[in-house]
Amino acid sequence: MKVKDPVCGMEIESEKAFAKREHEGRTFYFCSQNCVSKFDADPHKYGHPQKHEHHDEHGSHH
Ligand SMILES: [Zn+2]
Repeated sequence: MKVKDPVCGMEIESEKAFAKREHEGRTFYFCSQNCVSKFDADPHKYGHPQKHEHHDEHGSHH
């Protein structure tokens, strides 16, 4: 399964991830010790991505 490292933004295979963390019911995967350390230092910074990736489901814009 392809997943995204929330710290550096890199796409990685979950089976090959260096490490993973669970935060508020979601699982995050990391490519390196450096990224895990950053996440551990401040999980809220990375564990709650902004909603700009959400697609518009209304389709009512003209
Ligand atoms: Zn990374």
